[in-house]
Amino acid sequence: MLVVMKAHATEEQVRAVCERIESLGYRPHAIPGAVRTAIGITGNKGAVEAGTLEEMSGVQEVIVVSKPYKLVSRDVKEDDTVVRFRGTDASFGGRDLGIIAGPCSIESREQAFAVAERVAKAGARFFRGGAYKPRTSPYAFQGLGEEGLKIMAEIRDRFGLLIVTEAIDNESLDLVNHYADMIQIGARNMQNFSLLKKAGRMRKPVLLKRGMSATLEEFLMAAEYVLSEGNYQVVLCERGVRTFADHTRNTLDLSIVPAVQKLSHLPIICDPSHGTGKRDKVLPLARAAVAVGSDGLIVEVHANPDRALSDGSQSLFPDQFDELMVEVRQIAPVVHRSVQEPQKQPAAAKAGK
Ligand code: PEP
Ligand code: MN
Repeated sequence: MLVVMKAHATEEQVRAVCERIESLGYRPHAIPGAVRTAIGITGNKGAVEAGTLEEMSGVQEVIVVSKPYKLVSRDVKEDDTVVRFRGTDASFGGRDLGIIAGPCSIESREQAFAVAERVAKAGARFFRGGAYKPRTSPYAFQGLGEEGLKIMAEIRDRFGLLIVTEAIDNESLDLVNHYADMIQIGARNMQNFSLLKKAGRMRKPVLLKRGMSATLEEFLMAAEYVLSEGNYQVVLCERGVRTFADHTRNTLDLSIVPAVQKLSHLPIICDPSHGTGKRDKVLPLARAAVAVGSDGLIVEVHANPDRALSDGSQSLFPDQFDELMVEVRQIAPVVHRSVQEPQKQPAAAKAGK
């Protein structure tokens, strides 16, 4: 159920409707759009008695949402959601693409700083790096944990990059929420519903990666879990799905980008690194992702990929990342988008940190 407010409804009118929904025992989600505010209702088992809401002042109409996902749907919010980061010019879902780059794992301060310096110089606004790694083998490198998060916090201060890193369980989520700017939920956890709900109670943007065999509907339902807890700042990420193809690690399903954009107001970015698993395929698929309308990219970069503790074979050399940025900067305007130039002075340095 969705309450659509009139274009000029006042804040008081929106608040009164929210209070009425609460008094009926449901949860209201007021989502302002470009033209009007819509109020999604969750917590109802069946149909909500619309009568009392329909007559309230400022209400245009009450509509039944037939899709299983509500808050992520364009029915609730017609215009694109832009996820912004306070005090910076970085965003996802606006005209500028959001570019995230960095190593798969944080291995040491030196390793992380070397990559951060290069990706910042190339124009990325976000730095990625795993401190908690969901590895197939229990004997593989599991990440530096909190020490890795501290290194990334230093990188934010030194280079003005926003930090994106994965939380793999409830415990790491608290720490990631403390140190990072954006919480990554990985493919393996896309249907970890308790983790999604907890991320929904955080007030930091969430990067939600598509499960490796998730359908479009399952992907949107996972995002719905986060929004249903009150966190509306979700960026989706296509990272490749399992297919019979064996020339790549995964098959980057670029067709999901326009499919998501048709149904949902949330931004969606692509990960050509995990999406291919092969260094020489990352640049071509990054070009294609931008051309298909992706709202950004997440790319693995390592100064010495042959010695990387995880995902070396899909990590770009810094020079290759430079080339990627040059090319996507040229492709973006064709699809009415842009890629920011490198920051003259890192935001953090400007703030006197
Ligand atoms: C990663 O980003 O390093 C990662 C583990 O990604 P995914 O969850 O997509 O496999
Ligand atoms: Mn990786």
